Amino acid sequence: MTARDVLATVSEGGACALPVLRERGQREVFCGLTGIVWLHRKIQDAFFLVVGSRTCAHLLQSAAGVMIFAEPRFATAILQDRDLAGMADCNEELDRLVGRLLARRPDIRLLFLVGSCPSEVIKLDLAKAAERLSLAQRGRVRVLAYSGSGIETTFTEGEDACLRALVPELPATRERSLLVVGALADVVEDQFARLFAELGIGPVHFLPPRRSGALPPVGEASVVLTAQPFLNETARALGARCARVLTAPHPFGVEGTLGWLAAACDAWGVSRERLEQVTRRAVDRARRALERPRKALAGRRISFLPDSQLEIPIARFLHRECGMEPVEVGVPYLDRERMAGELALLPESVRLSEGQHVDRQLERLRADRPDLTVCGLGLANPLEAEGLRTKWSIELVFTPVHGFEQAADLAELFTRPLERGERLAF
Ligand code: SF4
Repeated sequence: MTARDVLATVSEGGACALPVLRERGQREVFCGLTGIVWLHRKIQDAFFLVVGSRTCAHLLQSAAGVMIFAEPRFATAILQDRDLAGMADCNEELDRLVGRLLARRPDIRLLFLVGSCPSEVIKLDLAKAAERLSLAQRGRVRVLAYSGSGIETTFTEGEDACLRALVPELPATRERSLLVVGALADVVEDQFARLFAELGIGPVHFLPPRRSGALPPVGEASVVLTAQPFLNETARALGARCARVLTAPHPFGVEGTLGWLAAACDAWGVSRERLEQVTRRAVDRARRALERPRKALAGRRISFLPDSQLEIPIARFLHRECGMEPVEVGVPYLDRERMAGELALLPESVRLSEGQHVDRQLERLRADRPDLTVCGLGLANPLEAEGLRTKWSIELVFTPVHGFEQAADLAELFTRPLERGERLAF
């Protein structure tokens, strides 16, 4: 299949009428605080202060580990019983704590106050606190707030909420530019920047930036491409600043990356011939690298429990480029319009579900017995104990998996648990 055939198929999107099984019930997902783990590595002069409980502190500590060689860039201000009972003035305490932190850490230029379930329950207004603290800092440090609470959210929504909080801070521009939205590993960002430069598309900016002083500009001539499928609120906020948000497949695998680049090419009037020319070597390399994992994955059945919002594009990649058969693809929330291009590339046999009723979903999973199940950490061990092979969905955001060069790495994430399972069976 040539790149042009791929692009013709990808742009056919929108005709999907897959039925959706909607479920509401108990859910098993991490909360939005988890996003701090990759966001604090990306924005190098930012600090994330969670206003939460000991549980929040434990979650962060175990997910992000301890920073041994550098000062940590995240922490939890623990709400005590007196705060939760409304007997103490949390705002005064917060101001004192932030004052001490910023005096001790002059390297912090951007401070996020991150809300949690407890701060939401006691209705602590962190947006107001951020405004007050920003004023007190007189421009030296920007203080913003967002919620990472686990009440009715899933873990990737933490990144969406964080980037959404940055949108009002972006400087205005009238210049036409491309804004790529979503935290990408620096190496992937550099690869994309080179591809766009070769295609003659630019200037290109990235949100989040590597340093808070380099916030990308936005305005009516800005064109937005989301690199992740879970950034709906950020995309909406950029739309409200008059930017044009493109609908495109997400850059996972060869097909997704070509479709994603093609959307930018269309906006810039770059021809398909030029896109083929610029991407030919990377596409060939990626296809060759995919041969090995494809051998291990082809014909294997896979189910996704709703967790990361990455389920649909990853299922599309594993089906079309690795020959896997998706059995059930569960997503926490389904935005049919934004996912139209991806959904049209899933096989008709797939069971698509939205939301979660964990007991019913596990019953279906036990009946299906797929070769591999993608799920959160909390469900993985019990499922392994039942003889089902699993893959932690959180690895999909911790590992660089976007773009041509990472397509085989993405596929290899799924071959490993299968190969481990086979070794254990002997
Ligand atoms: S924000 Fe809520 S779900 Fe997340 S660790 Fe804190 S208490 Fe738990």
